[in-house]
Amino acid sequence: MNEVKIDLEACNGCRTCYEACFADVLRWDEAVKRPIVAYPEDCVECNVCELNCPGNCIEVVVDWDKYYPPVIEGDFRCEIGREV
Ligand code: SF4
Ligand code: SF4
Repeated sequence: MNEVKIDLEACNGCRTCYEACFADVLRWDEAVKRPIVAYPEDCVECNVCELNCPGNCIEVVVDWDKYYPPVIEGDFRCEIGREV
């Protein structure tokens, strides 16, 4: 599983990472105004959070040993339901 490390001491609470993560990995703790890594198992290592954090507080550590679906080979284009 990927690990999303956030330096909460360096974080300025701007919410950029929380709003940028389309995979819903990050949630927002309104009480302390800081992000929460809620669903790291859903991280798709796009690095949008890390690249856009103004304080450079995030590090996405990719688990390269996790399962990746096999690459589908061949041409599977279809035209109105039939192969072309
Ligand atoms: S790397 Fe992408 S998917 Fe993973 S937590 Fe950051 S924004 Fe979300
Ligand atoms: S983008 Fe960086 S500074 Fe902004 S809330 Fe996320 S971790 Fe904190």
